Amino acid sequence: MNSTDTTAGPDQPSSDQPSSDRSGSAQRSGDGDLALRMTGVRKTYQLGGEEVVALDHVNLSVGAGEILCLLGPSGSGKTTLCSIAGGLLSATEGEVVVGGQDITHYSERQLSGFRSETVGFVFQAVNLVPFLTARENLLVVDELGRRSGKAARSRADTLLDELSMTDRAKYLPSQLSGGQRQRVAIGRSLMNEPQLVLFDEPTSALDTKLGEQVMDLIQSEMRQRGTAAIIVTHDDRITRYADRTVHIIDGKLDA
Ligand code: ADP
Ligand code: MG
Repeated sequence: MNSTDTTAGPDQPSSDQPSSDRSGSAQRSGDGDLALRMTGVRKTYQLGGEEVVALDHVNLSVGAGEILCLLGPSGSGKTTLCSIAGGLLSATEGEVVVGGQDITHYSERQLSGFRSETVGFVFQAVNLVPFLTARENLLVVDELGRRSGKAARSRADTLLDELSMTDRAKYLPSQLSGGQRQRVAIGRSLMNEPQLVLFDEPTSALDTKLGEQVMDLIQSEMRQRGTAAIIVTHDDRITRYADRTVHIIDGKLDA
């Protein structure tokens, strides 16, 4: 691993984690078992002629199957970091490698392929398609992804079952509760068998009890698959669901 990577190593704190059994990730990379490596990542936005520094030379590694909590106050750069790790935004400077793929210089088109194949997203405001049912919201991923037809339907049904949503499969988002919508969003993020799932404040719109249920579910779904996750939050109660917590303040990570 890169020697400049002081923030977080792939060496995971506990040995009882499932190791990823994805044979592909190690083969494609010189990064061994890393789900994510960010090196010297800087991101600035231009706002009314002024430069806003959202991320300031961030070094971060997430191991395969590791659940990382990124904890920080509003405006600290959490969403920006998630967006860059997920290929939604490009860094101004620095290097980004996800599951062994160096996406630093990817074109828009390559990033779009990368997003549909390699990562999953669950946002704070659940972005379900309002006119599609729960099941169709899972299947829509597949229009872009690797499965199609029967295999996709079967995967969607398995995921809905795991998420205890089978009896709501035909409901529209407007007919579901907040927690149920978040379950559909989790299912959708897993449809493409991602290496890394990015959760941006996944419980902030839920009450405490529902938030805990959703976090239990996220944790067990990630563990079961050996899928790595970054869970972004300003709520320090979330840290107990993670293998490791990294703090972010003013675009800088703690060492
Ligand atoms: P967080 O998710 O932790 O609340 P963000 O990543 O959304 O933080 O934002 C980090 C900083 O970058 C904030 O100061 C925010 O105002 C600024 N910022 C975010 N997006 C933009 C944008 N599109 N244009 C200008 N500034 C932005
Ligand atoms: Mg945010």
